[in-house]
Amino acid sequence: MAEDEFGQVADLDTIVSYGLCAACGLCESLAGLDRVEMALTSAGRMRPVTKSALDDDLMARIRDVCPGVTLVGPDPAQTDDKGTFHDIWGPIRTMARGWSTNEDLRFSSAAGGAMTALGCFLLETGKVDAVVHVRASATSPTETDALVSRTVEEVRSGAQSRYGPAAPLRHICRLLDQGERLAVLAKPCDVAAIRNLGRIDPRVEEQIPYLITIFCGGLPTTHTADKITRYHGLEPDDVTLFRWRGNGWPGPTHIETHDGSTHDLTYDKVWYSDDVPWEYDIQFRCKICPDAIGELSDVSCPDAWVMIDGKPSHAESDGANLFIARTPAGEELIAEARAAGAIALEPFTIRELDLQHADHITRKVENPARVRALRAEGQPAPVFQGFRDTKMVEIAGQQQDRDAEQGTVRRLREGAHREPLT
Ligand SMILES: Cc1cc2nc3c(=O)[nH]c(=O)nc-3n(C[C@H](O)[C@H](O)[C@H](O)COP(=O)(O)OP(=O)(O)OC[C@H]3O[C@@H](n4cnc5c(N)ncnc54)[C@H](O)[C@@H]3O)c2cc1C
Ligand code: SF4
Ligand code: SF4
Repeated sequence: MAEDEFGQVADLDTIVSYGLCAACGLCESLAGLDRVEMALTSAGRMRPVTKSALDDDLMARIRDVCPGVTLVGPDPAQTDDKGTFHDIWGPIRTMARGWSTNEDLRFSSAAGGAMTALGCFLLETGKVDAVVHVRASATSPTETDALVSRTVEEVRSGAQSRYGPAAPLRHICRLLDQGERLAVLAKPCDVAAIRNLGRIDPRVEEQIPYLITIFCGGLPTTHTADKITRYHGLEPDDVTLFRWRGNGWPGPTHIETHDGSTHDLTYDKVWYSDDVPWEYDIQFRCKICPDAIGELSDVSCPDAWVMIDGKPSHAESDGANLFIARTPAGEELIAEARAAGAIALEPFTIRELDLQHADHITRKVENPARVRALRAEGQPAPVFQGFRDTKMVEIAGQQQDRDAEQGTVRRLREGAHREPLT
């Protein structure tokens, strides 16, 4: 049973109230809706609500799969025969810059449409029966729903980044019970939850052969979308469409309303300006995330930013992703999608990756210190194994490692990790 060394991660309320929940939704799927239901809390986060008591066996299984409790890093043998097992970036069998060859999808998607193109390819070729992903809520457009798609059109309808909670895995156990083969397009912590599930449910290896993910800067609350809405003088009820990005790369954060008005802000205005009344209010679990780059996926598809003066530029351009194959299955999928003409690829190097996604290097190397701080402060702490902690501390150096631990201790003492249950 996965449990922290203090034995404090006792139940779902502990996971939630100590800021360890990542909002994957797998606990609801395991327990069933009559016992656990994902719901938005007053803090604007999607969290499990325990509706009736969970027996010890069920709670033990939830702890085993919950990415707020446990994560096991990738197997270094994945790259024994090809590629590299990189200290920072994890397993890389192949890596290329690329995009969907469908121009409409490339334009409308978050970046180059890589994830949606791969999901569509898997459905079209019959390699999976359904794609598990997320989409803007039809009833409350600033929110996000978990979706199970069985047609290309449905998969395309989910193209776009949703900078808010979604619980993408809430249908997983039902789909496994139905005997369906699935691809999951979701965040790295969602992918990690599926890998955890695979250790206690042998059906996962056969029935979920493809896990495709993003690089993830962290998951904001729903309050961010509401604040952006109000910044335009609107109320959330006025909104008929809330698109975070896409229709360009990165594309505007675009709002449409019942009275036909439209409102746009640039990506830099939304995320990189100081004069707006919102912030990137990510959950605490993101601050201690050992794998925001999808090491546990089959394919990671971050943005492949255009670089200007050595820095990523967010000036509008034709969308592009990286296609990082982590596993043989991921490598084969990319090769087949390219051979079929679904995606276009061009060379890309690890040196370029270092420059484009330097923010993720900082998070990686500081992660052992941040988790250490939790233990030092006697807080419930997850068990993360196999993420090369010794090497991360060595790369960070003593000063950065110490600063990262002290910074986290300070935030913990301020209670920054604590969350309301409802
Ligand atoms: C919270 C968040 C943080 C991100 N941080 C980074 C970052 O630090 N660096 C970076 O390079 N890229 C980041 N991105 C990813 C980036 O915005 C693109 O989504 C990614 O590059 C994929 O582009 P695409 O064109 O292939 O996606 P598309 O083809 O448009 O497909 C997007 C896919 O992402 C999935 N998705 C979107 N939102 C969510 C969500 N909330 N939960 C689960 N799955 C979701 C959808 O299911 C869909 O399959 C982030 C995205 C999100 C949602
Ligand atoms: S991370 Fe997932 S499994 Fe863990 S408590 Fe949150 S929703 Fe449930
Ligand atoms: S930073 Fe990590 S925990 Fe947070 S949403 Fe992204 S993958 Fe999940």
